[in-house]
Amino acid sequence: MTNNIIRMSTLYAPTLKEDPSDADIASAKLLIRAGMVRKEASGLYSFLPLGMRVLRKIENIVREEMDSHGGQEILMPFVQPAELWHKSGRWKVYGDELLRLTDRHGNEFCLGPTHEEVITDLVNNELRSYKDLPKNLYHIQLKFRDERRPRFGLLRGREFIMKDAYSFDADEEGLEKSYQLMRDAYSKMCERMGLDYRIVQADSGQIGGSGSEEFMALAETGEAELVQCSCGYAADVEAAECAPKPVAYPATQLEKITTPGVHTIAELAAHLGCSEAACMKAFACRDEEGCIWVLFVPGDYEVNEVKVENLIGVFEPLTDDEMKDAGLVKGSMGPVGLPAGVKVAADISLRDMPNWVVGANEDGFHYVGAQLGRDFQVEKWADLCMVREGDPCPVCGEPLSHARGIEVGQIFKLGDKYSRPMDVKFMDESGEERYFIMGCYGVGVSRTLAAAVEQSHDENGIVWPFGIAPAHICVIPLTVGDDTVQPAAERLAEKAAELGFEVAIDDRSERAGVKFADADLIGWPLQVIVGKRGLAEGKVEIKRRRTGERRDVEITALMELFGFAYRASRSGNLLNVFDGLFK
Ligand code: ATP
Ligand code: MG
Repeated sequence: MTNNIIRMSTLYAPTLKEDPSDADIASAKLLIRAGMVRKEASGLYSFLPLGMRVLRKIENIVREEMDSHGGQEILMPFVQPAELWHKSGRWKVYGDELLRLTDRHGNEFCLGPTHEEVITDLVNNELRSYKDLPKNLYHIQLKFRDERRPRFGLLRGREFIMKDAYSFDADEEGLEKSYQLMRDAYSKMCERMGLDYRIVQADSGQIGGSGSEEFMALAETGEAELVQCSCGYAADVEAAECAPKPVAYPATQLEKITTPGVHTIAELAAHLGCSEAACMKAFACRDEEGCIWVLFVPGDYEVNEVKVENLIGVFEPLTDDEMKDAGLVKGSMGPVGLPAGVKVAADISLRDMPNWVVGANEDGFHYVGAQLGRDFQVEKWADLCMVREGDPCPVCGEPLSHARGIEVGQIFKLGDKYSRPMDVKFMDESGEERYFIMGCYGVGVSRTLAAAVEQSHDENGIVWPFGIAPAHICVIPLTVGDDTVQPAAERLAEKAAELGFEVAIDDRSERAGVKFADADLIGWPLQVIVGKRGLAEGKVEIKRRRTGERRDVEITALMELFGFAYRASRSGNLLNVFDGLFK
């Protein structure tokens, strides 16, 4: 066998006619049905040869773009000493996603969910001088996160493959350059992988860095929600700035009104005959110290959990019982006359509201005309609302539209978030010791594989983008073992491979219908169908998977066209490589 042609007769790619019963999303079903992956247990998968080929392609695209944007590849251990996590302070705060273990000597370890601690320790005492900077080190490796809800196949696994990179700079200016390089690299990766993607502003509050963006593969089934605008602005809903326009209710005196049976904002607005934007929605939660907060947002908005977390450290809503114990009345909370010790925070848009419509902390009663300063105080102001579709774009004011996506990558400016607690420094130009200014950059390699399928499939199977297809062309002889069709198909496969394409041949003695179904399911970008009747005229049939277009072409012409197509693929025009074949 020359040219590494994939032979379906020997390939380990058991395809299935039926969807696996426990697969919950198209990519999970199709990757299993196409014989590319197998599920071992919740969130744990094996890659079979075809899945492996795609995984390697994605890795290689990632590797090439990292290398050409200043990255240097390393490999760090998967099992990490707890000691490093104690140093960074994350052993306690990482929570149950961190799988902790103890070795035979009683030493504690964890399975790496990410590698900030290891890398920071790695460079300690070895990257010493500003002259050594910048550095960008990356690796492609397994990660383990004991996710609360592993689901959607490879999209949210427990064990998964990630490329993570870490940059070290002397100052913010250097970090900015390193960050932009990675942003470029990630954009190129997404383009080469044929993804329809957006770069969106992300939340960086908890990390405390100065900025972060996510690379989202757009997909209706994606877990992430984003808003975008025609001006180019795009943000994760968790991070999107929000500027509600609450409406003032016409009452200036504090007045307690009876509101029997009123527990929701809609009921309150209907009772008063005002808009929901005139009523304040209240929300009770606890902060890191266990202190209780009641948060207020305009009634027509929802509370944004991530923004709450950024404000008070955690997002821990009180249960109904906890509310009762704290003396809070569900459905009638307000800032006037709260139990002692309960703190108040509110959305910044409410700061200029002269009069609030709020609960009276008494079932069946509300206040109108509650005045900030006169009747109550607010301890903290912040943007606390969840953006809505149609809200004005914070850049240009046009209405925002909503979309869903799969986060395939995220880039972060970390600053000294790790170098400071872990005390990792370098010597600057004036001989002074300073903390490294770091960035970190992750791509979900296995998640990207599934995201590509999620974006690119139809009822018959996967439609691989050219850049990451397990092979580019599948040659399908309609009969095998004869002395015309199979030899012609073999020659064709050889030639296409010689031209530089990756080629498969379906040399199984299966019915044509089975081969067609499998070729569509596996999703090779181009099928070349070789039959007796066509050969008599020197022709074969080609079928393009993405569009379903078919054409009869002369074999000699096809080889010439393959030559053009290969050159098109080299010039980077990856989506249109086979265009010329169907003109
Ligand atoms: P998510 O919000 O989806 O849980 P994350 O923000 O926690 O992801 P990061 O820490 O930014 O993830 O990790 C970098 C990349 O690793 C992500 O952009 C994603 O592509 C991938 N990734 C994270 N968690 C998983 C997972 N459970 N399964 C597969 N890939 C993952
Ligand atoms: Mg992320």
